[in-house]
Amino acid sequence: MAIRVRFAPSPTGFVHLGSLRTALYNYLFARHNQGKIVLRIEDTDQSRYVEGAVENLINILNWAGIDFDEGPHIGGNYGPYHQSERFDLYKKHSDSLLGENYAYPCFCSAERLDQLREQQKQNEQPVMYDGHCRNITSEEAAERMQTENYVVRLKTPREGFTIVDDLIRGSVKFENTLIDDQVLLKSDGFPTYHLANVVDDHLMQINHVIRGEEWIPSTPKHVILYKAFGWQLPEFAHLPLLLNPDRSKLSKRQNDVAVEDYQQKGVLPEALINFVALLGWNKGDDQELFSKDEMIKAFTLERVNKSGAVFDLNKLFWMNGHYIRNMNESEYVAAAIRLLSKIGRDKGDKKTNRTIVLAVRNHIQVFDDLKQATDLFFNERLDYSEDAIKWIQLDSSKMIFKNMLDHIEEYSELDINDFKKMMKTVQHATGIKGKELWMPVRAAMTGLTEGPELPAVISVFGKHRVKQLLKQALEL
Ligand code: GLU
Repeated sequence: MAIRVRFAPSPTGFVHLGSLRTALYNYLFARHNQGKIVLRIEDTDQSRYVEGAVENLINILNWAGIDFDEGPHIGGNYGPYHQSERFDLYKKHSDSLLGENYAYPCFCSAERLDQLREQQKQNEQPVMYDGHCRNITSEEAAERMQTENYVVRLKTPREGFTIVDDLIRGSVKFENTLIDDQVLLKSDGFPTYHLANVVDDHLMQINHVIRGEEWIPSTPKHVILYKAFGWQLPEFAHLPLLLNPDRSKLSKRQNDVAVEDYQQKGVLPEALINFVALLGWNKGDDQELFSKDEMIKAFTLERVNKSGAVFDLNKLFWMNGHYIRNMNESEYVAAAIRLLSKIGRDKGDKKTNRTIVLAVRNHIQVFDDLKQATDLFFNERLDYSEDAIKWIQLDSSKMIFKNMLDHIEEYSELDINDFKKMMKTVQHATGIKGKELWMPVRAAMTGLTEGPELPAVISVFGKHRVKQLLKQALEL
């Protein structure tokens, strides 16, 4: 059987990280099994329409490197792939359920339903439809449908259980009396998520439904629908919840949850995908860094966890740092210079800009860090850390600084080689070497005891600034 999966988002204007994970797992599963992946836009709720949301979604998926075999922007055999263009189909299927008595029209007013809900809440009963219209005869129903407003409800069985077999969770049993007579078609003739989703999954020949755990309560309704239509059930796989480090549900309050936020911070798509892949899946060993091809090769649903996946931002940034260091050098330089020039940080000379971004490459985790990491090269004022001051104030350090000032005029410029030569001379003259030699110089030049490679820093500073900083350090 050729695998067919789908990613079926309801565009809301931004892409949630959980959504990206669902898309990615579907994609990896499809590619691992030489199957097909469909993008289907679930936009039946017109009141939630957001201008530009679909374009934004497609841009994000492209950026992340998740490509589809069929979808609104590609076409395919089972389209159209916007549910809003398929309303006739859902109506037709709702009619057929009505005809077979698997569904019924419900004429209850909004007021009655509100009252019912209030009552059930007060009595601490589950909030669900009470079946008031379930047993209206088909003659009466047909007549009232001519003149009254109605919704179409699923006639769920009133005894026994519905079993959902889940590839990740195993068998989950639902008591039928607790499954609501779900609205399938609203009074304006628009379908609900449940009807449209099941009809489309069947018509698009989706045989594996991979989605977030929050959809589990809907799945028994879907199983009942499949049975009512007489269709073969797909396999279900519900992915674990994403959690904050304190194990609460991943929230906007504690973390950025929109993919766009990370994109703007300068997280690389390769790093984000790698990170997201590990939110609920592992290869079975402790490998953490995966290229897309490695993920495709290794991905199976058997290795997806049941328990919630903790979202650890530090790990994402650590990973991104790794990807930044692995980038092709000229790509890195171009991207970093582009970002810096956006905030007006440009030395007006290609070679110098290049030296700067390469010097800080090992010290950033996301591109956004470039701003802080390059302060050194653009701020006149130097703030010394406490540690730096300690180093600078040693007697031996003062000796080094004086010695450097004595020799500095021997060099017309102070490029990397000149600087190294000068330090050799100072080492001979003072007899100080290693950490005792380099740390004070770093402290005096950068105000810090760690940071980018010193010779590169000095070469950007030039002789004039180095002299000025040495004098400043001597006065400290
Ligand atoms: N439209 C639903 C969503 O926004 C799809 C859920 C499913 O995959 O069935 O996530």
